[in-house]
Amino acid sequence: MKSWTSPVVAPLPASGLPVRLHDSRSREIQEVRPLTPGLVRLYTCGITPYDSTHMGHAATYVAADLMRRAFLDSGVRVRSAQNVTDVDDPLLERADRDAIAWQDLAADQSALFSSDMTALRVVAPDTYRSVSEAMDGIIALVTRIRDAGFAYQVETADADGQDWYLDITRTGTLGDVCGWSREEMAQVFPERGGDPDRPGKRDPFDPLLWRAAREGEPSWEAGVLGRGRPGWHVECVCIAEEALGMPFDVQTGGSDLVFPHHDMSASHAAAIGSGFATIYPHTGMVAYEGEKMSKSKGNLVFVSRLVAGGTDPMAIRLVLMAHHYRTDWEWTDEELRAGTSRLAAYRAAASRDAAHGIVRPDVVEALRAALREDLDTPRAIAVLDAWADEDAGTAVSPAPVEQDGAPDRVDLAVDALFGIELAEV
Ligand SMILES: [Zn+2]
Repeated sequence: MKSWTSPVVAPLPASGLPVRLHDSRSREIQEVRPLTPGLVRLYTCGITPYDSTHMGHAATYVAADLMRRAFLDSGVRVRSAQNVTDVDDPLLERADRDAIAWQDLAADQSALFSSDMTALRVVAPDTYRSVSEAMDGIIALVTRIRDAGFAYQVETADADGQDWYLDITRTGTLGDVCGWSREEMAQVFPERGGDPDRPGKRDPFDPLLWRAAREGEPSWEAGVLGRGRPGWHVECVCIAEEALGMPFDVQTGGSDLVFPHHDMSASHAAAIGSGFATIYPHTGMVAYEGEKMSKSKGNLVFVSRLVAGGTDPMAIRLVLMAHHYRTDWEWTDEELRAGTSRLAAYRAAASRDAAHGIVRPDVVEALRAALREDLDTPRAIAVLDAWADEDAGTAVSPAPVEQDGAPDRVDLAVDALFGIELAEV
């Protein structure tokens, strides 16, 4: 798919210091040691294109953007990939409800997502692929899993062919990423696309690999699998393998993807004899009006509506920054007011520094240190608040100091590290 237009990132001279991120599997903050020295391979689970781009989406993709910027700042290259789930039950159900073609819904919502990512100055992924685009590779991958003996068929009552499931017990990896008990898994599996009660399955947690064609659903010819469409998890394994190779370094997404999506993606990879990601950082959920922002509850705050109403997208990024990416938090009007006033204060401080020729290597270094320590943006915000509060001429040295060729200008650092443009636009 065509991705969006990336902002220009002008990184500071490489720090050479490692980035540390929280890993949901080990439940610890770990130093990211790339499998290929000098290159981090980063996979971000993309949207199902409807109800985009709500604030939960924005929090996830801005966090992934911060990871990318942290790696760039440390001096390693990044190869990134992101999918678009344009073939899956929730999208098809929404298209049916709204009486439009699923392709049109996916195209419209993907375009909206792209324009929102551009507004938020999120760096575009190197590989951006939809399920429908990746279909040949997905069919080949499911066939490999079948040929390896990890797939079995389940009878259908409403299709000519049979459905294919992954024999998850045989992989021996169920629960490896999430670390949950079966009881914990059972609590969320049905509401996250699972079908534990489907008759004929060997294990309630076996995930769908390939769904035989049904009346009124999109389907593709798939050789020995029969005509149909893929299950959810296999798409990311296919796109990750094609774009990054497996195993790779980091897989990220919302915390509701820990199980089943990321756990089961790793099991799919295990079925073809491969490891999956090394580190799994997950973003918290964003609530609104007391409940998790979700499509089913309809309590969504959209980036595009805020921007159309006059909100500066950089103020939205500052609201996101005020919360550590792993925490759950609630969007409120007060949050937006605080982000907007911060943006004004930071811009005034940037103008003050420019007028006095002030450079601040101490502030820049504190920002970089916060970012590389598990994206500690609340700490960075505290540093910036203090910087903005300073009185020009008293608290700062007006003497320009060049260090390692770095400009040490706070506005340039904020742009490179956090994607926030402080120049007046
Ligand atoms: Zn995914």
